[in-house]
Amino acid sequence: MASAVGPESGDAHDLSPADVEVITTAVLQQLDGRWRSNGFIAARCPYPHEHDHPGLHFSYNTQSGWGYCFGKHGKIPPAEMAQLCGATWTRVVRADAA
Ligand SMILES: [Zn+2]
Repeated sequence: MASAVGPESGDAHDLSPADVEVITTAVLQQLDGRWRSNGFIAARCPYPHEHDHPGLHFSYNTQSGWGYCFGKHGKIPPAEMAQLCGATWTRVVRADAA
């Protein structure tokens, strides 16, 4: 097991590596993601920008699942990333209120 990461770490989340991988795949496919050498993916921001292209002002951390917009959107939590790029969530079952 990995060493414990407390909620103080900033980028903490309770996702499994498999969950993060689901988001990573979605970022690559939905947001035109491109791998960078430092473990980040340069992609389009999942939120609208007037001008955007992969890596212009958005990076995704493949370790933590967090997205970072260097424009106006700031840090985007993994759960939000999953929703925004239409990731098929493995753990959170979407309850369709019918
Ligand atoms: Zn943005």
